Amino acid sequence: MSEVTGTIFDIKRFAVHDGPGIRTTVFFKGCPLRCAWCHNPESMKIQRQIVFFENKCIGCGECFKRCPNGAVIATPEGRKYYRDKCKLCGTCVEYCYAEATVMQGKIVTVEEVVEEVKKDMPFYKNSNGGMTISGGEPTLQPEFCSAIFEACQKEGMHTALDTSGHVKLETLKEILKHVDLILYDIKHLDPAIHKEYTGVSNELILSNLREINKLGIPIEIRMPTIPGINDTESNLLALCNLVDELRSIERIRLLPYHRLGEGKYQRLDMDYRLKGLETPKKERMEEIVNFIKANLKRDIPVSSG
Ligand code: SF4
Ligand code: SF4
Repeated sequence: MSEVTGTIFDIKRFAVHDGPGIRTTVFFKGCPLRCAWCHNPESMKIQRQIVFFENKCIGCGECFKRCPNGAVIATPEGRKYYRDKCKLCGTCVEYCYAEATVMQGKIVTVEEVVEEVKKDMPFYKNSNGGMTISGGEPTLQPEFCSAIFEACQKEGMHTALDTSGHVKLETLKEILKHVDLILYDIKHLDPAIHKEYTGVSNELILSNLREINKLGIPIEIRMPTIPGINDTESNLLALCNLVDELRSIERIRLLPYHRLGEGKYQRLDMDYRLKGLETPKKERMEEIVNFIKANLKRDIPVSSG
């Protein structure tokens, strides 16, 4: 098996929203986008990161006594962590028995990932499930991503890639050689608004989508649905036009905005831009689903959640 290694931040077993059936989803660390609504801010940087859970800290002082770089110190206000001094040696994590200090991100081999994913083979077989690579942005680690997909397909697994599509077309096509289903994220159809809320324009994303549509691999469009940002009539109509044009798109899934990731921003010393934005109600999501169905010229499943 390939010797290549990569950085992941989670492996979730029994996932039911990342493609058909019961699946195991491998979350890669690192993403070129900075979506304002991202609920996994720990996925943004490819480097590992130290995260501190204040509510778990028992004040034993092991972290600042053991840190060889003065990156954690005791102050009258409590424990203080300096990210710029931290060398990610992991000593503080090792000695934090309360698990208040944890390392986000793990460097693993292809074999380690495949062995973990293989554990649920019987469930995949019984449910027509398989494995999914998500993130972060999986295509940021292309060799690692390709090698896992290739090995999983050899084991007889159904494979799915969840991508933002913000990647060189050649890289994406290479990875797709071992992919059975593409979960393609569309955030906004307007390039300027897309850039405002994700940090990048959508031009590359849309041109890649048009190109991979020609490969004949089924595509599921996934749109995080953010009130007041991309649930406008004009954006939903633009989405319908795109889906009507591209025949490999077999499904649209809306992912309602939620605030479950908000607390993580503080723990990572990051700002959360959408403070106070409310989660859309079930009735509103039904309204959006019905609007899309009414304006699509093709009969494909449209769902929320
Ligand atoms: S990971 Fe190492 S350098 Fe960073 S805070 Fe912990 S002990 Fe200090
Ligand atoms: S080692 Fe963990 S529990 Fe102890 S002071 Fe540091 S963060 Fe808190």
